[in-house]
Amino acid sequence: MRPQAGVEDVQRVCAKIEALGFRAHPMPGAQRTAIGVTGNPGPIEPAEFESLPGVAEAIRVSKPYKLVSREVKSEDSLIRVGPPQGSPNGGPGSAGASPAPTIPRPDQPESGRAGATPALPGFIVGGRELAIIAGPCAIESREQALEAAERVKKAGARLFRGGAFKPRTSPYSFQGLGKEGLEILAEVRRATGLLIVTETIDPENCDLVEEYADVLQVGARNMQNFSLLKRVGRSRKPVLLKRGMSATLEEFLMAAEYVLAEGNYNVILCERGVRTFADHTRNTLDLSVIPAVKRLSHLPILVDPSHGTGKRDKVIPLSRAAVAVGADGLIVEVHPHPDRALSDGYQSLHPEQFEALMGEITAIARVIGRTTAHAVA
Ligand code: PEP
Ligand code: MN
Repeated sequence: MRPQAGVEDVQRVCAKIEALGFRAHPMPGAQRTAIGVTGNPGPIEPAEFESLPGVAEAIRVSKPYKLVSREVKSEDSLIRVGPPQGSPNGGPGSAGASPAPTIPRPDQPESGRAGATPALPGFIVGGRELAIIAGPCAIESREQALEAAERVKKAGARLFRGGAFKPRTSPYSFQGLGKEGLEILAEVRRATGLLIVTETIDPENCDLVEEYADVLQVGARNMQNFSLLKRVGRSRKPVLLKRGMSATLEEFLMAAEYVLAEGNYNVILCERGVRTFADHTRNTLDLSVIPAVKRLSHLPILVDPSHGTGKRDKVIPLSRAAVAVGADGLIVEVHPHPDRALSDGYQSLHPEQFEALMGEITAIARVIGRTTAHAVA
């Protein structure tokens, strides 16, 4: 749509798409709204739409991932995390991103949900400020989670990670605290104001996780769990979608397409390493995928240097590289006592290492015109 197109112009185009029996996907951006069309069995005549008021152009999308593609939306997507009210980073008057788009979502009352704290400021992923998500692999106890959260907050993290439901290779490994873990996460949010990123492992469990999480994480092992992708696609919460460990870029973007096709346009991609023959790391962190995603898609992409390397000593160097290559942020495992961790201790940073990481990436961010919330002494 043209930048000056009004709400009624957008509605008129959507109504026409729906009248043809297709689905309209309005995706507002900072400058203009893109409207994707799905459900059409063949090409649509562009002239049918180009004559409508407010329409700038009608484009045939050549890519199989239509809604995710930059062809349908040329502007970078800004993904708002947390409550719609409040002034997030990047809101008007701040040095961060341009104002966040208002994204239409199914109605659901904000209040009354477990752990909801409407006074929290939100956070915009994909703006100038890097999205820094940090915390332990798994929530193990109240003390562990709160200690980790205080430390990462002090260093400049805005979002807290921690699994309550863990997809483990062995059925005998720690599987997470389940609902108790989610309740601890709600307490972390109340105590620190950090926004919560936590994993949902199947469509049934999503109902519960959705009540507590600010961002629903879909793990690498579930990247092609299509019923889970459709379920989170019907959620009003943003989704952090991790790349499968053997997924091509096209498969990764098609997985994101599943979520957008259901009407949830708030997807944050995450590169977390892929399987190769290399055995000096747990996975091979494919940083070249960042510029490749940026070229093909409007969605933001983060890097997980913890699972991406599997080794504590490689997390800081790869974090520096991830920021330099243009990632929109990091998700990093930090544990107050990694030697006692119940999962992924060998790749978890000590809190003081995370502080050092924040200092280093803040310096790199400045060079490429980005910021962090790390206070430079
Ligand atoms: C995690 O973030 O703890 C996790 C299990 O990640 P991945 O799905 O990338 O393995
Ligand atoms: Mn982990």
